[in-house]
Amino acid sequence: MYIPFHQKYRPAKFSDLVGQAPIAQTLSNAIKRERVAPAYLFYGPRGCGKTSTARIFAAALNCSNRVNGAEPCGLCFSCTEALKQASLDIIEIDAASNSGVENATKLIEKLHYAPISGKYKVIIIDEVHMLTREAFNSLLKTIEEPPAYAVFILATTELHKVKESVASRCQHFSFKRVNSDTMVQHLSAISKTENIDIKSKALEIIATFSDGCLRDALCMLDQAQSFRAGAITPDDIYELTGKVSKELLQKVYNLVVTNNQTELLTTLRFLAFEGKEPETIVNQFAKFITDQLIAEPDQTNKLMRISDYLLEIQKQLKSTVNPQIWLEVGFLKLLDSTKTSSKVVAVASTPEVTMPVTPLLEIEEAPWKTWKSYDDAIKWGHSKLPAKSITEVSTMWNNLLAVNGKKAVAWVELIRGEMNEQ
Ligand SMILES: [Zn+2]
Repeated sequence: MYIPFHQKYRPAKFSDLVGQAPIAQTLSNAIKRERVAPAYLFYGPRGCGKTSTARIFAAALNCSNRVNGAEPCGLCFSCTEALKQASLDIIEIDAASNSGVENATKLIEKLHYAPISGKYKVIIIDEVHMLTREAFNSLLKTIEEPPAYAVFILATTELHKVKESVASRCQHFSFKRVNSDTMVQHLSAISKTENIDIKSKALEIIATFSDGCLRDALCMLDQAQSFRAGAITPDDIYELTGKVSKELLQKVYNLVVTNNQTELLTTLRFLAFEGKEPETIVNQFAKFITDQLIAEPDQTNKLMRISDYLLEIQKQLKSTVNPQIWLEVGFLKLLDSTKTSSKVVAVASTPEVTMPVTPLLEIEEAPWKTWKSYDDAIKWGHSKLPAKSITEVSTMWNNLLAVNGKKAVAWVELIRGEMNEQ
């Protein structure tokens, strides 16, 4: 039976974890020093190893023959049961589909029985933020006064949605997106093992498109290997993922800034012909513009204006049945805005087209200039989104992916996007 790569290469020990070395180290040390906390909270973006880490930690806790003091041996009764996900001492539930109080009650009942094959009874709750308030409350009592053998591992992609009363009783572990170099190394090693002929540039593109999510990257590699018999090229990856190449994004950008309407429309139609979705084009172009803000700091004003238009196009695309037309209309308006920095004149004769444009004066230019630390950036974000708590805003900051090692510009983009949502 064929096993997909993301399952086949699921890490089984701490040293297999990709891009989460500090976490692997801390958890290994906790086991070696026998300083195991009753509750852990793993948070971070999807597909970066939270569940795998929880399973490895659970297996290691109960392994009767640990390697190097902390790694699960993979061979003892407890480990083999854990690998088959059949261990009675490791209870794993997905709160997304088991969010009710009855599930929490069942879980707590199971905790009344002492572990069978190991020292600990480990409860892994995935997407814990999905639990209902009642479920959280009933769980809270157990987390406050757990049996000595109980270890809770709560995992979430949305830390700000986890009840503070629960979160404050856990040791926190922040999982990071896997960086591009690490991802490429990992994919390259798997390609060698699997005898996949793939250009290193193609691996870099997979790493970029996966946005730090290892699971997505492995799925893409898996698909790519069955896509073509010969060497897999960057173009194959673009075709497979329906994404636009950097070269074409650069071309669109050049046509926008040189105000080349005819050529721009031709290019947008070519992309449609190639099967690229309007939403993908706009999202990728918006990301391209954010990167451009770093490459061309003297063009901040112009780039911010383009960004604002792209946000409007993104919104319009969500609510239309004819996205290609909206894409073209949106881009024509964008061209018009780069020509005149004042109010925008309707380009197409579609009266129902209303694209509210943020007046230029309201755009605070380069707010990061006054920031001295990331605290200032978070405070600025909070001042723009008063409906959110400072903790929520901090979490947004922590989860934000740095562009070329910097976060400030992407942060302003993110906050402005949220402001427009409200
Ligand atoms: Zn073992």
